[in-house]
Amino acid sequence: MGDSAVAMRFDNQVVLITGASRGIGRAAAKLFASAGARVAVHYRNRRDAAEETLASLQGGGHAVFSADLAHERAAGMLVEDVVNRMRGLDVLVNNAGIFEYHEISTVEFDQWLDAWRRTLATNLLAPACLSYLASRQMMKMGGGRIVNVSSRGAFRGEPRAPAYGASKAGLNAMGQSLAQALAPHGVYVFTVAPGFVDTDMAKSSLSGPAGDAIRNQSPLGRVARPEEVARTVLFLASKGSEFLTGGIVDVNGASYLRS
Ligand code: NAP
Repeated sequence: MGDSAVAMRFDNQVVLITGASRGIGRAAAKLFASAGARVAVHYRNRRDAAEETLASLQGGGHAVFSADLAHERAAGMLVEDVVNRMRGLDVLVNNAGIFEYHEISTVEFDQWLDAWRRTLATNLLAPACLSYLASRQMMKMGGGRIVNVSSRGAFRGEPRAPAYGASKAGLNAMGQSLAQALAPHGVYVFTVAPGFVDTDMAKSSLSGPAGDAIRNQSPLGRVARPEEVARTVLFLASKGSEFLTGGIVDVNGASYLRS
């Protein structure tokens, strides 16, 4: 390991971050750009927010890409588009995700089914398709990294959004399997599992009556900042972290500990 490992540099690397228009994805885009990467800022439909992320990035060579990942064909087009326009792909961060309430005791069956379909399509099938296509490209180029953004809910349970918990547990298992399958090809796969993070996704919970109880789940008395999750993503994607492949790193302020 040289100085670049300590400094976590990504010069001459192309990093695709899904869901980088807001929240954790935007924070990761900023950090990767300040570490020298050229960032592919992906978003679904909030173009203004994606352009705002783009404008905030240090360095040059960044670009925005739109794709609704709930449709699996869009994932294929996204990777192809990024590789063509950015001339390569070194790091994929599977960050885009959705969280929808669908309590088993209250929703109609059709709503239940829709929530499962949407959630699994966005949070699990899309990362599976993107990982397939990105790793094919990375193998051709001699290696790469995939970082999946999962959730504490995969371990702790999501009683009001069971499809979300299941999608993230599936993402964890996918990351472990792909780490084993891809390491011989120089592609390393990591997972980050945050607890609550201060983003749009958690806004209504954090500003509602349960906000203080949620903050007090951590002995630090607060939830994570998006930058804290982003730093972990950067660390895992950096040179020198190869032997962590297959690992799942908790970023939850000791709110849920597992051994
Ligand atoms: P966020 O602020 O709600 O942002 C979600 C991002 O995902 C946006 O960029 C959005 O694009 C994109 N996205 C959503 N659905 C999409 C689709 N169908 N196709 C393409 N892009 C889509 O979320 P966040 O809190 O930063 O969450 C990022 C990741 O962290 C997610 O995987 C989430 O499950 C995970 N996580 C979050 C928390 C938390 O408390 N916030 C906790 C644990 C894990 P647009 O802006 O265009 O809509």
